[in-house]
Amino acid sequence: MRKLFIFFFSAILFSAAATSSAQVDTRWKIHDPNRPVPPIIQPGTFSTQDHPGRPPSDAIELFDGTSLSQWASEDGGPAKWKVAEGYMEVVPHTGAIHTKQAFGDCQLHVEFREPTPPHGESQERGNSGVFLMGLYEVQVLDSYDNKTYADGQASAIYGQYPPQVNASLPPGKWQTYDIIFHGPRFDAAGKVTRPARFTVFHNGVLTQDNVELTGPTAHGVRPPYKPTPEKLPLALQDHGNPVCFRDIWIRELKPGE
Ligand code: MG
Repeated sequence: MRKLFIFFFSAILFSAAATSSAQVDTRWKIHDPNRPVPPIIQPGTFSTQDHPGRPPSDAIELFDGTSLSQWASEDGGPAKWKVAEGYMEVVPHTGAIHTKQAFGDCQLHVEFREPTPPHGESQERGNSGVFLMGLYEVQVLDSYDNKTYADGQASAIYGQYPPQVNASLPPGKWQTYDIIFHGPRFDAAGKVTRPARFTVFHNGVLTQDNVELTGPTAHGVRPPYKPTPEKLPLALQDHGNPVCFRDIWIRELKPGE
């Protein structure tokens, strides 16, 4: 009986760890006046089509519209994308760019603008991507009146989860992604103890609700997880299309957030 109880208890503990859902902290009484209050921050402002917003005061601004100093090329040299009038633009065939700093669990804000007039069809129209840890892609595509496979359209977790709705704006309009990402965890033997998870808002609309990834995203295959550090650089994809980005900021999440 005792053994059975321990088995069930461990099973519950394991499933809680695996899903990593927040739990009430029993160190504090309900409404405990001694419980520390959260830090005060200044919230940011929302963007308009004409002006990017201001990040929250505790965010790391990864692109302020003037410089790619926090980004590097795949070869580790300076990022070769164009910077102009408050945005950066993919220079086709110069390769992906990635942050110099590594990130794991985070809240990420990214804005993108698709080329107008549109050029190409399906996956060849305004394709780029936001790669958390360089491995897990939230697809960037011009999905306004552009037919493609569901798990490859804008705001898809590429090859794994179509967005719940298509909230795309027409090409030429600034669009927003607000992404909550929790990276995977591995035990000492390299076994996955917690898969990666995404929540995504596209133009303020929920498109991915805490979805659990099968492993890194890829074209035509779903590769298994391989053990990685908890943080790796964030990357933006060069898919050969001149997509623009602005107002990129990130807030690192601590355990329990
Ligand atoms: Mg892509």
